[in-house]
Amino acid sequence: MPEPSLAGAAGRGEASRDPAGPPPIKGFIETSFIDWRGYISAVLFLPGCNFACPYCHNYTLVNDPEAYLTLDLDEVLARLKPFVGWIDGVVVSGGEPTLHPGLAGLVESLRAIGFKVKLDTNGSRPETVRDLCQEGLLEMVSMDLKAPLDPLSYARAAGKAVAVERVAATLDYLRSSGMLHEIRSTIWPAWHGPEELKDMAQAVEGCQNWTLQALNPANAWNRLPLGPGEAYTSDELARLQTGLADAACRPPGRDF
Ligand code: SF4
Repeated sequence: MPEPSLAGAAGRGEASRDPAGPPPIKGFIETSFIDWRGYISAVLFLPGCNFACPYCHNYTLVNDPEAYLTLDLDEVLARLKPFVGWIDGVVVSGGEPTLHPGLAGLVESLRAIGFKVKLDTNGSRPETVRDLCQEGLLEMVSMDLKAPLDPLSYARAAGKAVAVERVAATLDYLRSSGMLHEIRSTIWPAWHGPEELKDMAQAVEGCQNWTLQALNPANAWNRLPLGPGEAYTSDELARLQTGLADAACRPPGRDF
């Protein structure tokens, strides 16, 4: 995920359902071509995360969010408004956005000026994802699947113990709800070998899309847990994408 912009000023916008106000916005990209497939999008970054993935590239946003200025929501909305019709939507990313009680209000503010909204999530808050979807606030959800859905594999990839049944519940909701979604996995050969990838492929069966990306250890939060191995090459990744990931999500009878 791109590095958040540091530009901004301290403050708080008006629109939020939560008395504490909208979530702090710690980064803002006006135009991105890579954060929402097929869309030109803006991206907002919210701080904090309940995971500590060793390969996280946004770890300052996770462990030291005060290093970033808080952007004023009203100023962000004013900056975005002229782009309605040119930018297709706004991605709300992080960190983990669902940790913030004012998230629904923030999404409503973005929708009120004319944008579709995609949520990026690690899937640990199924109720929040479900509520936002059921209220019709989101156009799309991108959810991470970090490992096979067993506690040991997930703890290694997420850097701490994770209630995997909650991640599975989000996955099940997205699969069964008809909500537009994609599942994303950052893979590393030592953690995601053939057996692990097979388990993950079973977990995403019936989902709309599963995208694999190679873990890049260069900017990792903590390189040590990754061990001395090498990343998947682009050829290996392409083979896994078409041979495994695309196949796992292909409905019977669809051959593309
Ligand atoms: S889920 Fe992991 S990679 Fe994503 S923001 Fe949290 S710590 Fe970083």
